[in-house]
Amino acid sequence: MKDTYRHQGMRNKLAETLQKKGISDRRVINAVKKIPRHLFMDSSFEDHAYQDKAFPIAASQTISQPYTVAFQTELLEIKRGAKILEIGTGSGYQTAMLLELGAAVYTIERQKELFKKTNLFLPKLGYKPKRMIFGDGYKGLAAEAPFDGIIVTAGAPFVPKPLMAQLKVGGKLVIPVGDEVQIMTLFTRKSPKEFEKYEFGEFRFVPLLEDKN
Ligand code: SAH
Repeated sequence: MKDTYRHQGMRNKLAETLQKKGISDRRVINAVKKIPRHLFMDSSFEDHAYQDKAFPIAASQTISQPYTVAFQTELLEIKRGAKILEIGTGSGYQTAMLLELGAAVYTIERQKELFKKTNLFLPKLGYKPKRMIFGDGYKGLAAEAPFDGIIVTAGAPFVPKPLMAQLKVGGKLVIPVGDEVQIMTLFTRKSPKEFEKYEFGEFRFVPLLEDKN
């Protein structure tokens, strides 16, 4: 696992690209400059790592586009120490971003192969989520609820009720909703019964799949 000045240079360029596309949160930009994205992908694809593109990883899944990761993270408005649940660990790149922002991260992945791989890989880079769980994100994580923020990194055909229920009052759920194309959607919990909903345009994710069992 190598990280060089050449990679650093490419990261700085990627960070500039994201700023031009409208990402303004300094902490998110600094995290993009810091996280060695090429190490989250197969080494033969190294040269693609710092383009602003999604890319295939194991088990027919993708590492999300850097712009998408930055955009979703910005919407969460994470404070240091915030308790964040991520659905869809995948490569762990988004997980690393949340950890760089000082969040206490709980992350769920339903593909065994990816779960195992990322579970071993993240700590090697010094990234330590509170918990990495092999399971079904549709259910959230009731045992650790409530959360300050929940981020879904796969396309959800509908908004799973448990995720709404597991938000603190004042908490935010960021979720791409739709089948072929998803609308990035933010829910803010105003009170135990009230949520405000905001929509932010179209994105494309691999699907949030129902439990195999
Ligand atoms: N944040 C990841 C995105 C990976 S793609 C990254 O940037 O690398 C979406 C991930 O969600 C895939 O790894 C997929 O296996 C996972 N996923 C799909 N349905 C899920 C579910 N019901 N529960 C948990 N994870 C799920």
